[in-house]
Amino acid sequence: MSINRLLLQESAESLFGLSLDEDCIDTLEAYYDAVVEANKEFNLTSITGKDEFVVKHLIDSLAGVSFIPEGATLIDVGSGGGFPSFPIASARRDVQVTALDSTAKKMNFVGGTARFLGVKNLKTISGRAEEMKDLFERFDTVTARAVSALPILLEICSPLIKVGGIMIAYKTDESELEVSKNALKTLNMTHKKSFSFNLPNGDRRCILVFEKTSPTPKQYPRQYGQIKKRPL
Ligand code: SAM
Repeated sequence: MSINRLLLQESAESLFGLSLDEDCIDTLEAYYDAVVEANKEFNLTSITGKDEFVVKHLIDSLAGVSFIPEGATLIDVGSGGGFPSFPIASARRDVQVTALDSTAKKMNFVGGTARFLGVKNLKTISGRAEEMKDLFERFDTVTARAVSALPILLEICSPLIKVGGIMIAYKTDESELEVSKNALKTLNMTHKKSFSFNLPNGDRRCILVFEKTSPTPKQYPRQYGQIKKRPL
């Protein structure tokens, strides 16, 4: 089923200065079909209308693209149905993307579809971010969209990035920064910039970029029960 290619292409250009080539749009269109098909078997997303999918999943996911350094290694925590990992990997073939989610079924879908559509720079891992000790301090960039409140997100995501690496959090606005001051300080993370914009449907969005300035202190991340019960 064809999506509104022009809406995708023009929005990416006007909102993010991103020029998507025809191959990338073909891949994202095929991804839409794959998600809708898989959604009949298990719940990947509630957003399945064509235009809604383009706006709320594809364009929104592409908002973080321009902040990713050239040739970076990137891990997308809580990637679910492949957002933002799949659109990022499709638009930035120079970036090595790892999608991580605690639900194996979702990662099997994302990984299998990436292989089928020839998105070779995307691989998947299933597991909980805070338990992935082998992956700590390994990535240049971490992304996360719709996973948890910012103080919790900082604790589960920041251990995965190298010192000097960045975390890109997909949020609605900057309001969570205030309650995240202690988490930022404790985890050696600094807020570098914010990019606010409106999706074509008028929904407000904000990309928050953080930098890791020193290694994560050894006592973090804690077990998830603790992280959730007593957020930093
Ligand atoms: N990022 C996707 C999106 O924007 O459509 C999925 C969002 S979904 C609401 C949240 C996802 O995060 C779920 O698939 C869940 O399994 C995953 N998740 C939550 N906490 C996690 C953790 N600590 N480690 C790995 N995955 C996690």
